[in-house]
Amino acid sequence: MNHGTLRGANSAPSQRSLANTRAPDEGDGVDTSPDVSDSIAKTTCYMCACRCGIDVHIKDGKVRYINGNKDHPVNRGVLCGKGSAGIMQHYSPARLKKPLLRTGPRGSGEFREIEWEEALSIATERLSKIRRTDPKKLAFFTGRDQSQSLTGWWASQFGTPNFAAHGGFCSVNMAAGGLYTIGGSFWEFGEPDWDNTKYFMLFGVAEDHDSNPIKIGLGKLKARGAKVVSINPCRTGYNAIADDWIGIRPGTDGLFVLALIHELLKAGRVDLDYLLRYTNAHVLVIQEPNAADDGLFARDGNGNPLAWDRVAKMPVSATDNGAKPALTGNFQVDGRRCVPVFQLVADRYLQESYSPDAVAERCGVAADTIRRIAAELAHVAFEQAIELPVAWTDWAGRRHETIKGRPSRSTL
Ligand code: SF4
Repeated sequence: MNHGTLRGANSAPSQRSLANTRAPDEGDGVDTSPDVSDSIAKTTCYMCACRCGIDVHIKDGKVRYINGNKDHPVNRGVLCGKGSAGIMQHYSPARLKKPLLRTGPRGSGEFREIEWEEALSIATERLSKIRRTDPKKLAFFTGRDQSQSLTGWWASQFGTPNFAAHGGFCSVNMAAGGLYTIGGSFWEFGEPDWDNTKYFMLFGVAEDHDSNPIKIGLGKLKARGAKVVSINPCRTGYNAIADDWIGIRPGTDGLFVLALIHELLKAGRVDLDYLLRYTNAHVLVIQEPNAADDGLFARDGNGNPLAWDRVAKMPVSATDNGAKPALTGNFQVDGRRCVPVFQLVADRYLQESYSPDAVAERCGVAADTIRRIAAELAHVAFEQAIELPVAWTDWAGRRHETIKGRPSRSTL
């Protein structure tokens, strides 16, 4: 049996002959795959929101380790470091096992463990006073425990509308923004179309969330030769495998995007059909600087937002699916000036202050790079549009036999 060169505690790695080293194997009498569990519990990981399938290996009633479930559609066997560390949810010495009662002044960090009966009786006494007087005085906030439907239901039964949970301050806003703008987000809210995307922009992604599906998705993009562009001050993680890394100054991503919008507007590379179908770009906004409703949507007597029909040349309901709404122009509605939302967007972002030359220094990205990214984005979106044979019904009840897509995608 050849163990290679023996390595003492003080030997420098450079003095070892790597050619003579190898890992022990079965032939050495070493069991490289010992049985460490007597049962495997199949469940989903709770360490972030995407819920990878996991196999939890248990021995003598204790979790020994966790690995990815190869049959699970979300992660197909992949497990991230955070998911592996899920074992510490059970065995971390810092885990709270009982309620803590503060015994010192606020901020002193002085607590003592109490039993659940005592905790419940303290809480019941305090809460019953509030409920008797004015339940709305209770502001009920819960952490990231994924039981928000239950805690929200409890708060509404208590009688307070003042309840919230982690998601409302974090991912839900991002997800809503993603759904309304790029048609998808990630985690349980949907994902980029990894199978059809040709140009993928990645803005400052937190890699501790959804990492397995994103890793698998990025692998698909790279295998197909799609271009991955990352916009991130750091070139680590996903950014290290990007084809094009834009090392932007922290906090200026929004300005960078507005400069892209400036370029796309200037070049006329705007998907007007998309804006009309999915957004309120055609809704009229009141432009009466001295009126109380200046800047608000113009509405009909029933409160419906109005648009301007460019064929009928009159205001119509913005949700009238037979209308031909104008996206640009100035119109008079009941003697007041109104313009479509898109006109306001164009007026603002076509200003020189949003040009690549004007933002380059603040973003730390060369103006030519911004212009190049905008041109690439437009090229893929308009010259390489795709059509998928997937039937769908839009908001107005119209059936479409195919989905048209612009295979450039962004994720945040
Ligand atoms: S990506 Fe990691 S942390 Fe998130 S659910 Fe999957 S294994 Fe768990």
